[in-house]
Amino acid sequence: MFADMHYGEGEAEAWGPAQDANSTRVQNAVLQSELNGLGLVVMLGDMITGNNVHSNSSAYWDEFTLPVRANFSGLPWATILGNHDDYPFQADGSPRQYTVETQADRRELLANDLRFADSATQLGPAGISLASNYFLPVGSHGDPQGPPELLLYFLDSGGGRAPEVVYPDQVAWLEGLRTQHIAKWGKSVRSLLFMHIPCPQYTKALHSPQGFFGMALDNITPTANDTGVFAVAKDTGIQAVFVGHDHGNDFCGSVEGVWLCFGRHSGYGGYGSWRRGSRVVELGSDGAIRTWVRMEDGDVVSSGELVGARDAQG
Ligand SMILES: [Zn+2]
Repeated sequence: MFADMHYGEGEAEAWGPAQDANSTRVQNAVLQSELNGLGLVVMLGDMITGNNVHSNSSAYWDEFTLPVRANFSGLPWATILGNHDDYPFQADGSPRQYTVETQADRRELLANDLRFADSATQLGPAGISLASNYFLPVGSHGDPQGPPELLLYFLDSGGGRAPEVVYPDQVAWLEGLRTQHIAKWGKSVRSLLFMHIPCPQYTKALHSPQGFFGMALDNITPTANDTGVFAVAKDTGIQAVFVGHDHGNDFCGSVEGVWLCFGRHSGYGGYGSWRRGSRVVELGSDGAIRTWVRMEDGDVVSSGELVGARDAQG
């Protein structure tokens, strides 16, 4: 997962495009290191710093998706939105007209993502708050009608021109899916959840007696209101949650049986000079779920087992 790449900063200065080229180098290095068995890239929000983009967000969408499209063609990606992707223009305070090409709104940004053949992103259901709300089934033991091995849920945690919140109707939608999925497949399928902004329970993960690993050098700035996403995630069979947003954290901590993990600051845009990398999640053939952070220089840090092989059948 690529978190917080923040393309598009300083676009009128030399350092801006140079910084974006560095972010592209991170993507290429990580994808090359992890290519064996790699099935999906998650763009974990704040792909662009929309508040610094003068005229054309979609040009940066073309740029940050280019490593996957050009060098790893056929590898799908799934995008969720962060708090900077649709941010109103701020760089010099001058008023701008918002159009699709300048400061697209959340649904326009996702529609733009869907232009690409390898995008697995979905435009969230109409009538549900915000935009990047969807799920992707992974694997089905060879039976396309059978239950998947894993479900990946994606939720939009707002920000930018929207409040930073997972709205109650999004939480209710997630809860409703659980009922639908149990009816369809006859059992609860284990699953992972991806958002950009942490839920408030992340502050407990830091001191988890049940398990903790990784880097915790930054503040944890969760959504202000707890609208119940953690409680529903726990009841929905979600075994781990992955977020970005706080660039100096890449830790995973276990809270009430759910792993709460940060990705890793992947881009040279955005605050902080912590070394860049990318959190990887592996679904093993034994059913175990393991994770680590692959650094730009090839190092592996912040690794641990989230679900053991013996627990995988549960
Ligand atoms: Zn960020």
